[in-house]
Amino acid sequence: AAMRDSRIQRTKTVCTYCGVGCSFEVWTKGRHILKVEPSEEAPVNGISTCVKGKWGWDFVNSEERLTKPLIRQGDEFIEASWDDAMDYIARNLGGIKDRFGSDAIGYIASSKCSNEENYLFQKFARAIMKTNNVDNCARYCQTPASRALQRTVGYGGDSGTIKDIENADLVIIVGANTAESHPVLATRIKRSHKLHGQKLIVSDLRKNEMAERADIHLHPKHSTDLIWLNAVAKYIIDQGWEAREFLNQRVNGYKEFVQSLQKYTLEYAEKFTGIHQETLIQVATMIHEADSTCILWAMGVTQHKGGADTSTAICNLQLVTGNFGKPGTGAYPLRGHNNVQGACDFGTQPNVFPGYEPVEDREIRGKYERAWGVELPKHSGYDNHEMVDAIQEGKIKAMYLFGEDMALVDANANVVDEAFKKLQFFIVQDVFFSRTARYADVILPAAPSFEKEGTFTNTERRIQRFYPVFEPLGESKPDWEIIQMVANAMGANWNYTHPSQIMDEASVLAPVFAGVSYDRLDGWKSQVWPVQLDGTDTPLLYLDEFHFPDGKAKLFPVDWTAPHAYEEKYDLHINNGRVLEHFHEGNMTYQSKALTHKAPRPWLEVSPELAEERGIKNGALVRLTSPEGAIKVRVEVTDRVKGNELYLPMNTSDEDQAINFLTSSDHDDVTDTPNYKETAVAMEILSYD
Ligand code: SF4
Repeated sequence: AAMRDSRIQRTKTVCTYCGVGCSFEVWTKGRHILKVEPSEEAPVNGISTCVKGKWGWDFVNSEERLTKPLIRQGDEFIEASWDDAMDYIARNLGGIKDRFGSDAIGYIASSKCSNEENYLFQKFARAIMKTNNVDNCARYCQTPASRALQRTVGYGGDSGTIKDIENADLVIIVGANTAESHPVLATRIKRSHKLHGQKLIVSDLRKNEMAERADIHLHPKHSTDLIWLNAVAKYIIDQGWEAREFLNQRVNGYKEFVQSLQKYTLEYAEKFTGIHQETLIQVATMIHEADSTCILWAMGVTQHKGGADTSTAICNLQLVTGNFGKPGTGAYPLRGHNNVQGACDFGTQPNVFPGYEPVEDREIRGKYERAWGVELPKHSGYDNHEMVDAIQEGKIKAMYLFGEDMALVDANANVVDEAFKKLQFFIVQDVFFSRTARYADVILPAAPSFEKEGTFTNTERRIQRFYPVFEPLGESKPDWEIIQMVANAMGANWNYTHPSQIMDEASVLAPVFAGVSYDRLDGWKSQVWPVQLDGTDTPLLYLDEFHFPDGKAKLFPVDWTAPHAYEEKYDLHINNGRVLEHFHEGNMTYQSKALTHKAPRPWLEVSPELAEERGIKNGALVRLTSPEGAIKVRVEVTDRVKGNELYLPMNTSDEDQAINFLTSSDHDDVTDTPNYKETAVAMEILSYD
């Protein structure tokens, strides 16, 4: 909590830059940030932070902050009072609801905002506006991973904590740039690998830092991870190395699973992935010899046409080898945004209430109807991908979005732009004038985490409190207060005066949060859900049972989906990801002088072979064209990438350089997650150096 030390104030906060969930104290004087100081008591990071957590906070005091509501008049935005903005919203949003029905409005929540804000937003959409058309950006990243976990082990969250990853005998990282995207978690693996004999296998197209350190770096052809995962599972079974007792007692579907693997021989795997058979045998042997294995993955797996299935193959492999339900084991999708786990947990998804209880289940819906005193919509709503289509088809006429720059982060930005232009009414609520805001009819100025109170849930399912460092700047307000104002303008009668009341409400309704309370989360304390009524939390899942009615896990057979096919002229494959210094589209981190000085813009990584073939050097300017659009970027020649593979950090808000002007609307069939990682381009040279 905030403590006074003469005029210097120290306030505990939780970092907003990735799912690791580091917490630390911010030292301030007035609105001046003196320093960020981690503490031994921080449950995740102890005394560590990365550069973003340490230096990434100037944006809070940026001159660019939105400080007053804005209402569109023609091509301009005019400052308005909060009252006028609310009247304007009530008239327009209400008008559209009356004319076109509840389902003509879509709601986009924010995985950068708090659990309480997400809870309130889905309640607004469902209880007041009577639609389940609500989603958050997990759809762009982690929904396939959650779906895989729900298919196989039950809960859509990491099965253990960072301690388990740290203590595992073997860590396998698939399609994740951990050293840059989850830096403090990566330091734990680096330490265990260097000092405690932990083994490390990395599968990635790019020789990132973890791949460089790994005992084995697998470099499969793009979009083929599922094949080697299945082949390793088959090889393990063929050797009789499967966890017999565990499978007998705790897992369903073994026979069918073994049958489904028939074609995934080592020869088949080598043919399609390009990984040598001996290497796959080595991988299988290392898993067999390890007492405990954790598998970590991220967007390099999920952002594919077969993203949910490849994630499932990871869970299957962990089940076959008995790597669930004991310390040092488990399946770990590494959550990108600080609160992408929490946004999903607290119900901003079109098919589930908070705690993942289905909206189409009559009993569950009845529970919420009684608690909220309303009748609720019976069917699942549109996810954010479907909302874009529904706007194009004229089915969605209005949207309310907060804390999300959808016009930059959704795939195929040109298509999203076209859709947003068609909206009759668009509310955008943000800290800055985002790219999405240019399409808004009304813009509501929100306060960032430093200016409000709430909780975030990190990648471990760990809920932590953050406290207000400053008052909201200008007339900006915490998102939960704004959502409540909009709800009341639309006829609700809400009187929340503190976010703890929202958490209290959620903990009564969603069994997984039963024992969560602000008191129990005071200061550095944290709780890892599911939390029982008496406050007992669950850092390690599945010790006794899996989250299914019979307590058993399910092996879920999956087959490989070939990647999106492109015309021959698009002869290069472009991958994308993060750089250490920036977060996402960078609308916060580019406001930090220290970070921007270190990493002013994204560079296109080109392999030495390709650079030589095309006669280009470091600094060359190239135009990349895909069937969807074109961008212009400068080249960095590096052996981190190979052959015809390019890599472009996604961290930019510059339209000339943003990856999503190249990506397509094609997506994972199971979850609608765009296949950002299956983009092909043609490269035209504009200058050679
Ligand atoms: Fe913040 Fe993630 Fe860095 Fe920790 S590792 S300081 S949570 S960005």
